[in-house]
Amino acid sequence: MNYIICHYSEIGLKGKNRRFFEERLIQNIRRTLKPSDVEFVKRISGRILIKLTLKGEKSQKQIQSALKNIFGIAYFSFAVEAEQSIEAMQKTAYELIKDKEFKTFRVLTKRSNKNFPIISPDVNKKVSAYIFKHVSSDKRADLKNPDITIYIEIVEKYAFVYLQKIKGPGGLPVGVGGRALVLLSGGIDSPVASYYAMKRGVKLDFIHFHAYPYTNKASIEKVRKIITVLSKFQFKSILYLISFADIQKQIVAKTPPKLRVVLYRRFMARIAQGIAQRNNILALVSGESLGQVASQTLENISVISNAVDIPILRPLIGQDKQEIVEKAKEIGTYDISILPDQDCCARFVPKHPETKARLKDIQKAEKKLKTKKLIKAALRGTVKESISFK
Ligand code: ATP
Ligand code: MG
Repeated sequence: MNYIICHYSEIGLKGKNRRFFEERLIQNIRRTLKPSDVEFVKRISGRILIKLTLKGEKSQKQIQSALKNIFGIAYFSFAVEAEQSIEAMQKTAYELIKDKEFKTFRVLTKRSNKNFPIISPDVNKKVSAYIFKHVSSDKRADLKNPDITIYIEIVEKYAFVYLQKIKGPGGLPVGVGGRALVLLSGGIDSPVASYYAMKRGVKLDFIHFHAYPYTNKASIEKVRKIITVLSKFQFKSILYLISFADIQKQIVAKTPPKLRVVLYRRFMARIAQGIAQRNNILALVSGESLGQVASQTLENISVISNAVDIPILRPLIGQDKQEIVEKAKEIGTYDISILPDQDCCARFVPKHPETKARLKDIQKAEKKLKTKKLIKAALRGTVKESISFK
């Protein structure tokens, strides 16, 4: 099978922007597949068409798993091209199924090129008739639940025949939705939040706060690994590493223990905003979900958001822990996230942190800190790394 037809759903709805979405999807497909596997990738009406090289035809498995990570693809099919005539479609369809085991089948034609003179139901009938003639007499037609469906697409100058629709990840092509900065902790949640932001077309950079040398470097190693996995959805990623130790020291020395978690988060948000402003990034992304842990109440979230002007997106807000864990397993970050580390935020935090922070109290506590100076110093020490999917 030397062609792949990629169908998208939502991109089709985007009116004037459609070209822009399609171009980005094509670019993302080109960047994902090996150049030696691909003869061309181009748009044909309402679809993206990939033609494989001989080498590509032999790498179907790898190509299939790569396409499953490209947001914007609703489903795709490995297909054979036939000449745009009934005879050619009949022969091609028969060739595809003649060695398969099945009892029932159907033919489903989609005729996008309305210049082709035979309407879809008639193509179905003619191809079915040919197949009945050439297969053993025990084969039956079943239009509802057949063992095999033969799909035929008549589009532009092509006719494609295939047997399988493979589900893609849906969503929008990464890059059409601007850039955001994820606060990535090394835990289970923030990688999953990243996945959902990318799925809506947002290209991500990442920021991680660590307390090295007061802790080991485990959390840094973990986020590097997590970003490597997440980069399969967006190719290349940037990681900003920020030392949080000095800020924590001041918070611990000068503020009530109960408020520390919220204070840590407000500092993180401010520093992330500083990185965002310098890099044309429009929003932050966090892995918070409502009520999951004591610190993630609506009150606390509101006080954290209040520290910055930039919007903080929280893609997991309505998700149960179990759903998040399942998604983490599916995308391949779970096993990394559960490795032990020394999370900077677990340091010096009381057993019962404030669950209903009040802005007034937080602001009072922050008056005792050299907030601006601390943020400037943290930003000055930023270490920037580039990470690609291997
Ligand atoms: P996660 O599983 O992502 O760690 P969590 O359920 O453990 O989330 P918290 O530890 O309260 O929740 O963190 C809430 C969010 O704050 C995280 O999802 C992440 O976006 C951000 N965050 C926490 N710690 C860090 C860190 N060290 N560096 C960057 N972001 C962090
Ligand atoms: Mg955490």
